[in-house]
Amino acid sequence: MNIPYGKQSISDEDIKAVVDILKSDWLTQGPTVPKFEADLAKTTQAKYAVAVNSATSALHIAVQALGLGPGDILWTSPITFVASANCALYCGADVDFVDIDQETFNMSPTHLREKLKIAGELGKLPKVIVPVHMAGNSAEMREISEIARPYGIKIVEDASHAIGGDYLGCPVGSCKYSDISVFSFHPVKIITTGEGGVATTNDSELALRMQKARSHGIMKDLSPKKFKTHGQWYYEMTQLGFNYRMTDIAAALGISQLHRLMEFVDKRNILAKKYNQSLDRKHLILPKVMEGTRSTFHLYIIRLVDKMMRQELFNSLREEGIGVNVHYIPVHLQPYYQSLGFSEGDFPVAEDYYSRAISIPLFPQMTDVQQETVIKILNRALST
Ligand SMILES: *Cc1c(COP(=O)(O)O)cnc(C)c1O
Repeated sequence: MNIPYGKQSISDEDIKAVVDILKSDWLTQGPTVPKFEADLAKTTQAKYAVAVNSATSALHIAVQALGLGPGDILWTSPITFVASANCALYCGADVDFVDIDQETFNMSPTHLREKLKIAGELGKLPKVIVPVHMAGNSAEMREISEIARPYGIKIVEDASHAIGGDYLGCPVGSCKYSDISVFSFHPVKIITTGEGGVATTNDSELALRMQKARSHGIMKDLSPKKFKTHGQWYYEMTQLGFNYRMTDIAAALGISQLHRLMEFVDKRNILAKKYNQSLDRKHLILPKVMEGTRSTFHLYIIRLVDKMMRQELFNSLREEGIGVNVHYIPVHLQPYYQSLGFSEGDFPVAEDYYSRAISIPLFPQMTDVQQETVIKILNRALST
């Protein structure tokens, strides 16, 4: 018996939606991507949604649209997937990190305030900051934006874990406290399109820049006047872009998955509540959700009170078929980032978190029996 840490849920409706597109005229650049974008804008209450082929691409075009380039600096959280930081390097900018809050595992507003003060004095302020909604639990965006805005810093939310979550009465992705929010539709995330991502924003100029960037810097319908002087074939490339387009096949799956978004998030919260009630609190620190926030529980992360127990517990759970994982190795400890000058000890709260953390199985189709098995095996392993 194997219980994975996460797993997508594909329904017959999802399959039918994809097959319908395969039988249609448009596998890509048809009407389904704009439809998915409209649905995403509605879900997040943002004005614009720009769908692309991954959250990594979305992060790239988001920070590029905000003007990040050589000589600029981007700050993110060290506890994230590497993509949150790599987007800066794609633009020729530098990366630095803001240590996390030990309760939420999100970018700490306190550390942000202190670090900005020092950076301001040194004339090394970031142009963009990328808070990450770790495990689906929104970072403290109101406070972060109050701290960063006076410096003129732009904010991109890496909300890859958090579609369907709420923060202070608004859906995550509404961009109330940010310029752009980014979501991932990789199969382990809340909803999936296979590979896929989206950037949401309320700024029409940013949306336009991102729309151009995802498709070679070309938008045919933006030059209607010139069709007359040239011809119907006419198009202009106005900026250097990429091919980051989402297919209509993927978008059809996304539209269908969105119908079950709240069902997925509700189920994840029910499973999280059961873990909260049942797991050994003597040996474990369980995740905490701040007031005014609804987490999506993309991940359920336990931390060991005694970090010396982590390795052994992890191994014994794996041996028993419990698909545990660790999210994440702090980005600054990756060999590539070490080669850029980061070292162990740079972000002590993140490193301490990492030494204690284990993600345990949680996915919408997890059965009660599966969850009880995880609880029983975990509590037993801790008590011996
Ligand atoms: C998954 C993930 C990404 C990258 O998403 P892709 O769609 O796989 O490119 C970026 N940031 C975080 C926090 C993620 O979890």
